[in-house]
Amino acid sequence: MDSDQSYLPLQSGIIYGPVNSRRLGPSLGINLLPCDYKLCTFDCVYCQYGHEPARGLSSRAEENNDLPTTTEMDGVLRAALKLHSDVNYITFSGNGEATLHPRFAEMVDIAIRVRDDLKIDARTAILTNSTGIVESDVRSALMRLDSPFMKLDAGSEQLFRRINRAHPEVSFDRIVEELIRFDHPNLMMQAIFFEGDPSNIENQNVEQWAGILKEIKPQEVHIYSIDRPVASAGIRPVGRDVLEGIAAKAQGISGVPVKVF
Ligand code: SF4
Repeated sequence: MDSDQSYLPLQSGIIYGPVNSRRLGPSLGINLLPCDYKLCTFDCVYCQYGHEPARGLSSRAEENNDLPTTTEMDGVLRAALKLHSDVNYITFSGNGEATLHPRFAEMVDIAIRVRDDLKIDARTAILTNSTGIVESDVRSALMRLDSPFMKLDAGSEQLFRRINRAHPEVSFDRIVEELIRFDHPNLMMQAIFFEGDPSNIENQNVEQWAGILKEIKPQEVHIYSIDRPVASAGIRPVGRDVLEGIAAKAQGISGVPVKVF
């Protein structure tokens, strides 16, 4: 059943913000996705943009005139960074999953080149649902970013299917396998915790999830709860005390710093 709350409006262009992110500070957002619908390999129960059927990674090969071109990206990013030269981060995020853009790797290179041309002291980052990591061009582009923030909300395929409602082409095991092999010096993992049906706060899930983090060995893990409208009715935020408990347990099992936001 759908939530009856109104969803967050989609970003209306390629560049948005700067937004003052709780975790990143002032961050200039890059949206490589359409402006009138969510384009994502997931359809998460907690998505702030509401429901939209998940797409497979194979859709990267399809013609889509709703996506920005590399020329547009270069022009608008250059103009925005001249206006906002004091941002901490230049962050790929936006209306779904940025790595679904067929020329994602070139877009990353443009962001790095424009930042360096303008001598802006900002880090390049992405907030991604991790599904693109199974594609070799995406994986190498993620390596070139300063700070990849990769999502993993569940510790098992079964719960992953219920929470993230991934496209059938997406495999939980393949994502985990690639995250374990992904040797980025500044790899950050992130997860959102919530209650309802489904929920991911139960001990068994937290233990399985932390066991996977132990193998991935990220530099840090960021956890938080819902603070926006959600796609599915009954999905509710949890309090800071619950998040602190999850962080302590997960840190103990994985040996990786887990921070609550
Ligand atoms: S990954 Fe993000 S954009 Fe995609 S469905 Fe989940 S919350 Fe929404």
